[in-house]
Amino acid sequence: MGRIPEDVIEQIRQHFDIVDLIAEYVPLKRSGRSFVGLCPFHSEKTPSFSVSQTKQMYYCFGCGAGGNSISFIMHVENLTFVEAVEHLAKRAGVVLPEREAAEEHSPEAIRRKEQLRCHDLAARYYHHILMNTEAGVPAMRYLQERGLTLSTIEEFQLGYAPDRWNILLTFLKKRGFQEGFLEQAGLLSQSGNQPGRYFDRFRGRVMFPIHDGQGRVIGFGGRIIGQGEPKYLNSPETELFQKGRHLFNLHRARQPIRQRNRAILLEGYMDVITAYQHGIKNVVAALGTALTSEQAKILQRNAGEILMMYDGDRAGQDAALRSSEVIAATGGMPRVTVLPDGLDPDEYLKKYGAIAFERIVEEGSVSSTAFKLRMLRNKSQLSSQEGVIAFLSEAVRIVAEVRSPVERETYLRELAGEFNVSLESLMQEMQMTVSQPKSGDKPASKWNTNINNGERMFKNALNPLPAHVQAERKLLSLMLIDPGVARQVKETIVDEFSIEEHAALAVFLYLYYEDHQDANPAYFISRLDDERLIRLASELAFETESVENRSGLAEEYILRIQKGRAEKRLQMIPKEMEEAARRGDFETLRALTKEQIDLRKKT
Ligand SMILES: [Zn+2]
Repeated sequence: MGRIPEDVIEQIRQHFDIVDLIAEYVPLKRSGRSFVGLCPFHSEKTPSFSVSQTKQMYYCFGCGAGGNSISFIMHVENLTFVEAVEHLAKRAGVVLPEREAAEEHSPEAIRRKEQLRCHDLAARYYHHILMNTEAGVPAMRYLQERGLTLSTIEEFQLGYAPDRWNILLTFLKKRGFQEGFLEQAGLLSQSGNQPGRYFDRFRGRVMFPIHDGQGRVIGFGGRIIGQGEPKYLNSPETELFQKGRHLFNLHRARQPIRQRNRAILLEGYMDVITAYQHGIKNVVAALGTALTSEQAKILQRNAGEILMMYDGDRAGQDAALRSSEVIAATGGMPRVTVLPDGLDPDEYLKKYGAIAFERIVEEGSVSSTAFKLRMLRNKSQLSSQEGVIAFLSEAVRIVAEVRSPVERETYLRELAGEFNVSLESLMQEMQMTVSQPKSGDKPASKWNTNINNGERMFKNALNPLPAHVQAERKLLSLMLIDPGVARQVKETIVDEFSIEEHAALAVFLYLYYEDHQDANPAYFISRLDDERLIRLASELAFETESVENRSGLAEEYILRIQKGRAEKRLQMIPKEMEEAARRGDFETLRALTKEQIDLRKKT
């Protein structure tokens, strides 16, 4: 757990109110003693994510995510523990003491650091070549022809990789990097027919550095200058660069996205940079692949609305459709802007400027359902009756996926009016669609977590936990808020919990109270580094409310646990007795009989 002193971590944690901190990512509403909102860690339509101000903890009753402020930042920003503490420390204005953290020196941490360092060096080097050398002239001309200003080129640290085999290789080798390491980092390639021979991966390309959420270079996109294939080349998947988990320009766009409560998703890096130069700063792009649910969730955590503006051509529109489905599946509300005349955002901005762009974002975007209907219409044969029928039945299917009944009816009304059919017949058609799901569809995922939660609740209702397991949970939840109960348990059942995680949590609690007089669940869990235990402790912390007579209650739970254990043991005794009798081992037999009598008294 690093070596940032515990009291410093605690000071940083206490600087923030967890409700304010989480509210920056998730809209929260007060509900009784806690605050609730839609969980940022799984997709849901009804809030099961609770935040307790008094306990300074959060817990999701849907997916089991839980913890304190630090764990929240770790998960939501995708950081390690130490990075999360550093992140919060910076905001709190706390200066962290110089660390000799074990974590900092682990082989993985060193590798990661070195990978970041070689990417940083490569980005600077490519940028230098573009800005200051003869070799960079054609690339500079290309960028300026595309309308980028020098200050934009500098801000995005664009660069050029000359069409040579070993320019980056030589540069980084001189700085102590090994060829094999650089290949794994995605900066070099290895010759197929001459293993052991390495060369620059990017050659003859304009280089777009790609950053992580903290603004560190983790990869590159390269666009070829002149002839050659492929036109665009990205860094390969590496430990650092995971295409599905990052977005181009996110570190610059995050603040503007939060301010506008809207993220605009564009298709290409060039689109993003052009928009940014025009002052439209809430723009990001996926990394050369279809949008993943992880990326969709990152955007949703920062914006209420995700707007897609892809190229006007068919491929662009199909991509918009796929991305909008990913966003909808993670619980978001995607909207799509279709630019006129098949223009892409870059072209549109140059032709009509930023004001027109903003206006079309406001007025020209449609819901993903309207967009799907439009796409369907474009490819349907509406001149024949069969064509219209086919169109309508597919259109009804699309409308059936809309959750709001009012919205569904609005779409159906429009269709009915346009094609001169009755609303009732479309309604009927929709009923049939819903009752007969398309083969291969998973209704549970389509109508999402309401059903999943329902199933979960249903299951819980059918199979309640055994009484002694419930007692263990109740007891642990009391131990979390009451050192007296912890002592009471330590003196009676110690670690005789039937569930391994329960036993582990109990032991951590005993240790905690050796150093601390008072209960503080949020502080306690920052000492745990097992994710399962953190979740369990968070869940249990949400079970307790301030109750009277905790020690009396604890006594009851202890008895129930002991009874549970006794019952379990009693079930095993007859078999052991049988075996002892067969061996003629009367001593054991006698001991077992006595044990049986004692146990029966307890149950
Ligand atoms: Zn959740």
